[in-house]
Amino acid sequence: MKTLSFDEAYCLESFRRLLAVDSTTGWYEEIQALLCAMLDELGCPWTLVHKGGVIAELGGEGEALAVTSHVDDIGLMVRHLNADGTLNVCPVGGLYPFYCMTENVRVHTRDGKVFTGTVCREPNSIHVTEEELRLTPPDFRTNVRVVLDENVKSAAETRALGVETGDVIALEPRLAISNGYIKSRFVDAKSCAAVLLTLIKALRESGETPRRKVYAYFAVYEEIGHGTSWLPADVKDMIAVDIAPTGPDQNSDEHKVSIFAKDSRYPYHWGLTNELRETAIGAGIDYVMDIFTPHYGTDCDTSLVAGHDVRHAAIGPGTANSHGYERTHVDGLRQTYALLAAYLRR
Ligand SMILES: [Zn+2]
Repeated sequence: MKTLSFDEAYCLESFRRLLAVDSTTGWYEEIQALLCAMLDELGCPWTLVHKGGVIAELGGEGEALAVTSHVDDIGLMVRHLNADGTLNVCPVGGLYPFYCMTENVRVHTRDGKVFTGTVCREPNSIHVTEEELRLTPPDFRTNVRVVLDENVKSAAETRALGVETGDVIALEPRLAISNGYIKSRFVDAKSCAAVLLTLIKALRESGETPRRKVYAYFAVYEEIGHGTSWLPADVKDMIAVDIAPTGPDQNSDEHKVSIFAKDSRYPYHWGLTNELRETAIGAGIDYVMDIFTPHYGTDCDTSLVAGHDVRHAAIGPGTANSHGYERTHVDGLRQTYALLAAYLRR
């Protein structure tokens, strides 16, 4: 059997393409169109989820395995227009103010206009207001605002541009790759979606049909908790591919794949998780077991809560600075890919 070797260049280019399209949770149409185009390039059939999301069909017969990753990102939304023409904002998903200060953004209006700007503290100059900056933590409700790159001085002038409450604000990802280290926002989980695309490419090129029916489910609402609340009726097993946060007392490592034993909601399914662990041992994959508390869940939890009778498991690359300017290593992506590829052949 041909090896499903890891096409690193394709994986990184796919990650770059996914990052180039804003996809703050709930604002999915452009990323969905890109995914469909990328699957078309691979000759892989797909269907759309009605509320948003793409399910690629990898072939095979019988009860299905859904491998899922998400392509939505945490971001912001316009709460109201401040009197000085700046934007008061609220987070969409788990974005904290200290992790987006001074970041560049794009504001997407409901009429399809795009405006650039920056997330700022008020006050905002270390030379003028050092004391306030040091002593007051940033807070979206009181002292954080988005300043547009427009000559506006009042709410009326900003409104006249076409900006309004409920517009979506996407953060600049700022991808940089150096010595194998991948630094960017939204490594969670566009890097994992890129791994899935790379596996689809390898399967298509090998002409191999999976031993069982397999879906690759690209979800667009994971960051707010209902990405895969709907599943095709024939799905019996589910593997989420998502970031494995590193930190004190964590085993996760940017150079390895983590197999999740438990997140902050539930332990993962004993049998399916053991199958992944046995696969990793048998294939000589550089893996660790890890547990993620107190603030972590995957789309597998979503499917269980929605009432699906599925076995669930999760794996992913060790990732630092989660929900900020994240970092992983190409080794972590390679090991994640290798575990998935070996599991599909099990
Ligand atoms: Zn994620």
